[in-house]
This record gives sequence, C-alpha cells and structure tokens, in this order.
Amino acid sequence: MKIDYDDMDLSIIKEAAQIIRNGGIVAFPTETVYGLGANALDQESVKKIYLAKGRPSDNPLIVHISSIEELYPLVESIKLKAKILMDLFWPGPLTLIFPKSKIIPDSITAGLSTVAVRMPDNKIARELIKYSGVPIAAPSANISGSPSPTKAEHVIKDLNGKIDMILDGGSVRVGLESTVLDVTRDTPVILRPGGITKEMLEKAIGEVLIDSAIISEKEFVDTPMAPGMKYKHYSPKAKLVIVEGEINKVIEKINSLAKENKEQKLKVGIMATEQTRENYQADLILSVGDRDKAETIAAKLFDTLRAFDEAGIDIIFSESFSYEEIGFAIMNRLKKAAGYNILRV
Ligand code: AMP
Ligand code: MG
Repeated sequence: MKIDYDDMDLSIIKEAAQIIRNGGIVAFPTETVYGLGANALDQESVKKIYLAKGRPSDNPLIVHISSIEELYPLVESIKLKAKILMDLFWPGPLTLIFPKSKIIPDSITAGLSTVAVRMPDNKIARELIKYSGVPIAAPSANISGSPSPTKAEHVIKDLNGKIDMILDGGSVRVGLESTVLDVTRDTPVILRPGGITKEMLEKAIGEVLIDSAIISEKEFVDTPMAPGMKYKHYSPKAKLVIVEGEINKVIEKINSLAKENKEQKLKVGIMATEQTRENYQADLILSVGDRDKAETIAAKLFDTLRAFDEAGIDIIFSESFSYEEIGFAIMNRLKKAAGYNILRV
C-alpha cells in the first residue's frame, strides 16, 4: 500500500505500530534508506531483525526516536557537542553514539557500552515511532551485504515473506545511510560518512576526525571502530569494477574493458552519468545521475546497482565520481560495493 506524504493514512501506520508493540518487525521509509524496525527495548524482537536480514550478530543497530525526550532514558550522558548537533541536524541523517543506559539490550549494541541513536526526518518513520510508544531499532531493510533499499520494491525483493509488514513511502530522499558520529570522545570521529558532511559538522562544533578505516580503503580492518565496517557491504551480485581518472581516459578504458568482456561472452553493464552515457557501448548502460549534482547520484546509486542485477548483468564497470561533500559518502559506498576493485587510469 502506497502512502502519500501529504495524505498519510494513519490507520495503516497505527497497524504497523501495533505489530511493533506486539514484538513483530516492520519495514518503513526514512529519508536515508528503508529501515527494518523492531521494539528496541525487547531483546526477542530485535533478534528477529538479525534473523530476517542474515545480519552478523556483532554488527550493532541504530535506535530511532521521534522526539528529543525519547533520547534521555536511552543514554547515560549527553555532551555539549552532541546537544549542539542534535539542535542543528535532528531530525535528519545524522546518527550519534552515546554511552548506553541499562534499558538498551545487549543484542542491539553487540555488547558495546555505547548506543547509536538517530531521529529520522521522514514523517512516516516518526509517526510510526510515536504510535509504537517505544524506540525502534532499525538497520537497512535489505539482505545483509546487498545494496541498501531505497524503494519498497527493493525491500520486497529481499525480505518478502520474512517480515510482518512494509510501509511504502515511495523513493527515499537522500539514498545513502546516515552519517555515524562518535561524540563520546573529546574530538568526535566520523565512523561512517553520509549526507551530513565533515564540513557541516566542523562548522558547528570545530574539529572532527574521520576514522582511519574509512580512509585506508581496506575492506577488512583488524579492530574497526564501527563494528559493521569489516563486513561485505552494498554489493550487487554482478562483479563491480570502478575506473578512476580523467573522464575521457575513463570512458576509453571502460569501453575497451566492455569489449574484452563481451568477447568472453559476459553480459556487460556500465554505470555512467547524464553527461557521459552516450559515449558507451555495452549490454546495459545506466545513468546514475548528474555528475555536477552529487545528490542525484546519492539518490540513485543503490537503485542503479540493483537494476544491473535485475537485468542479469555479469560485470559492471562504473565511472568514479567527485569526492566533494556528499561525494565522499558516495565513493565510500561505491568502493565497498566493488570490494575495493578500482582501476586507476
Ligand atoms: P545499518 O543500520 O545497517 O546502517 O548499520 C548501522 C551501523 O551503525 C553499524 O554497521 C555500525 O557501523 C554503526 N553503529 C551502530 N551502533 C554503533 C555503536 N554503538 N558504536 C559504533 N558504531 C555503531
Ligand atoms: Mg545496512
């Protein structure tokens, strides 16, 4: 059932809230990606999320709230820098890490002493949390390791039959998961880049660091700060290769790779942009957005990766994009999706 933003059918949201209260799991839209939610205060409900997704139990979940008051029982303390960021960016795509209170079950935090909390900027999500009357633990509503869901159709594809309900709110706005910021330390650290950029955070609270695992470009790190970092993420079934460099050289290289792979009888896909799509030859050429408008690429990245799989493509060659602002998060997801398979020309 599709729910219109302006004309929300409250009875459907209340039905979903009842499922959450009764210990079930519900997929719902947020502005970042679709989430798979359960009562965050109930260990047994939370376990159902891990089971449905096939998510490793040492990858902690984000707890979603609908108002600031709901934060206080969940955390031991809130630093001034966190308060400033909450005022500025909540509701919105910023997750903050706090020392957890005793009511947070260990299954959510994978045994950590901290808890990740966010207030989503999506009316359906916030109404669902409000009517549930409990905070909602929610990871992305996809099978663990696959591209995150940005449409209800993606959730159906991955989780149909495994969950109790899906609220369809259409395509999400941002398209990439929230920025995760550890504010328990004196100098806050970005554990996952997202729509709220380092520059935006630094303007508000001064120096912000980026976790070394994000910069080092290695898939497996020994002791990742954000436990989820060590896992395969966002990957299409097709092999994905990123070609990075000056755009004309990239086009030339991708076309020659496409030809070689075609000769090997592989079905070849190319992830291009509005500006470059006309320059390619392959079985499927998809534009992921406008090179000069990074937010269009963020919004379509996961949907485009999934579209190659839908078409049965064996190997995808992708252009590389700007690292500026939200581009940093786009390239973080794209590189992970490619398993750091990057050709520099
Ligand atoms: P997902 O909900 O699939 O977007 O994943 C949530 C991510 O939030 C995890 O993979 C972790 O990287 C991060 N996260 C959640 N809780 C914590 C925590 N207590 N400390 C550090 N990172 C966390
Ligand atoms: Mg996820």
